[in-house]
Amino acid sequence: VSKVVTLLIFTSPAELGLATPLVMIAAIARAARSGILIKGGLYLELLAKADAVVFDKTGTLTANKPEVVQVQSFDPTLNEDDLLRLAAAADRRSAHPLAKAVFEGATRRSIQVPEPQTFEQLQARGVKATVDGKIVLVGNPALLLEAGVTIDQPVAESGRTPVHVAVDGKLVGVIFIADTLRQGARAAIASLKESGVKRVVMLTGDNAATANAIAGELGVDDVKADLMPEGKVAAISELQKQGLKVAMVGDGVNDAPALASADVGIAMGGGGAQAALEAADIALMTDDLSKIVAARSIARRSYRTIQENLWVGVGVVHVLGITAALLGWIGPIQAAFIHLGPDVLVFLNSVKLLRVKIAGT
Ligand code: ADP
Ligand code: MG
Repeated sequence: VSKVVTLLIFTSPAELGLATPLVMIAAIARAARSGILIKGGLYLELLAKADAVVFDKTGTLTANKPEVVQVQSFDPTLNEDDLLRLAAAADRRSAHPLAKAVFEGATRRSIQVPEPQTFEQLQARGVKATVDGKIVLVGNPALLLEAGVTIDQPVAESGRTPVHVAVDGKLVGVIFIADTLRQGARAAIASLKESGVKRVVMLTGDNAATANAIAGELGVDDVKADLMPEGKVAAISELQKQGLKVAMVGDGVNDAPALASADVGIAMGGGGAQAALEAADIALMTDDLSKIVAARSIARRSYRTIQENLWVGVGVVHVLGITAALLGWIGPIQAAFIHLGPDVLVFLNSVKLLRVKIAGT
């Protein structure tokens, strides 16, 4: 009887019930302290296992501080300031990072920007507004082409993002925006690769010339440009079909569906859109790309801790305990005491996550 009781004590793995949730609570708390909001333990595991990371470009890798650097008018009746004024009026209600740059570009030149009479945001293309009774389109070439505007002027491929402006069905000019890389973008991508990420991909609704210029500075493996939000979703499912676990990082402007369709969606907090924070599984409180590296380190560390806990709990103590009980080395009283051991070890090992040094936090 005594042997049976001893065995029962060793075969009831209380610490196993603790092994995983404790680690997750500790890891989520640790991440929160670094400004990383993880919406559930599951995402820790998925982030630890991710072997492809997909980045949105505008507002995520870039938009450090996008700035209007050149205004080109094709219409002799509109000077640079007139053109910027119309575009800024159309763009002033848009949350797109480039729209904000257009508006700021106008105010920096002390241009009085009027309110548009009507305003419509056209997903991933730009905006359509009525300003001074004129129909103004501001956005990418697709927006203009869909509205039947012909692009009859050559637009220089300068690595700057061109924002096209049409008035009453005619292309009147282009606003060039320098959208520099966020600080630490290159380093963050390098660190992710060091942590075992096999593929880093950049997706963008921007044109290929600008996308390639940016990608060249970054060391990404692949670039896809001219994408609509659906195109970003398709690019992710393509990676998933190759058997990769995909983490997607975005700002929520034109990429909320992609954030939702990735295995783990990570949203940039600061400048990002509300939709991103809701669609994502992990939200960064600040727009700091090194937080992604930190989140990954915490995730990997906690995954390792769970495995350690299981080894200590099951592997070592239970197997040794059961062997000792079967051989009659120990009785129920000793078993009860020894059994506390792994519980304490698992507890200590888990809360250690709150304290240990983790790169980037
Ligand atoms: P990304 O995928 O890199 O985040 P987006 O899909 O958000 O880029 O935007 C793609 C392109 O659409 C921009 O490069 C810009 O030309 C155009 N665009 C979209 N919305 C606006 C807007 N409100 N004002 C100006 N340009 C816009
Ligand atoms: Mg974006």
